[in-house]
Amino acid sequence: MKTPEEESKPQPEDLLEKDSKIQFLCRPGLSCFTTCCQDVNIFLTPYDILRMKDRLGIPSDEFLDKYTKTLLPPGGGIPVIQLVMGESDRRCPLVTDEGCTIYEDRPWACRMYPLDWMGDKGGYYFLVGEDRCKGRGEPNELDLFEWLKTQEVAPYEEMDLRFQMVTRYPRLAEAGIDDPRVQHMFRMACYDLDTFRRFVFETRFLEVFDVEEETIEEIKTDELALLDLAFRWIRFGLVCGDVLPIREEVAESKRKAMGVESGVSENPTGVSENPKDKEE
Ligand code: SF4
Ligand code: SF4
Repeated sequence: MKTPEEESKPQPEDLLEKDSKIQFLCRPGLSCFTTCCQDVNIFLTPYDILRMKDRLGIPSDEFLDKYTKTLLPPGGGIPVIQLVMGESDRRCPLVTDEGCTIYEDRPWACRMYPLDWMGDKGGYYFLVGEDRCKGRGEPNELDLFEWLKTQEVAPYEEMDLRFQMVTRYPRLAEAGIDDPRVQHMFRMACYDLDTFRRFVFETRFLEVFDVEEETIEEIKTDELALLDLAFRWIRFGLVCGDVLPIREEVAESKRKAMGVESGVSENPTGVSENPKDKEE
């Protein structure tokens, strides 16, 4: 969660240790209360979106349309989802004067504030000083490790690690994605989970991919399992075809149709998105 002027690079000496003391308490009544929910760049992870859309009780496509925009890095790349601030007041659409309306399900970046993660050094640092974040002057002190527990970031970090197994794969991280079909598939699977669920159950997906029976049952009700399947499918299409096995009879008929020994499909998704194709 950064304002443009906060985006200057932190230095290695700013890194906090696990047992560094964090003096911080955010509360109504502070003069800065909710100001950090205004004019900020908040990028949402797949797990952030899952928690937020469920909290708001709306499907993922509606959430994405109403609250976010999709950014595509120049020259092709991994689609990134950004929370959109209000046009006139630049405030987060989910904040009121009483605070965050989805507090228990707020995104990772909001949980971490006023800390941020220094990716290349693998540690946390203070993003802003006491002048901007008055909570830093409050008499409440915890070890960094203890403080992270109070922010309940563990499930966010767990799911982000799994997401990074997709995004950090060298081929993807270096070359990005320049095929619009693949960008579309990536956005749907990772961020638009309710649409991905329909894609799995209403197209030939389960006829093409040899998904374990147990997983099929699980993904009917378990969104984390569905997100895991989405990550496997993206890795199948973009990284490594072994992650999600294709049913042998499908692979064989594709090989015959294409007159080649290997290579399943020119379609990187392996499946048409048109549900009608299921009836053919
Ligand atoms: S600036 Fe800091 S203390 Fe003020 S509302 Fe934001 S997190 Fe809380
Ligand atoms: S999601 Fe909540 S905590 Fe995050 S910016 Fe919006 S109102 Fe603030």
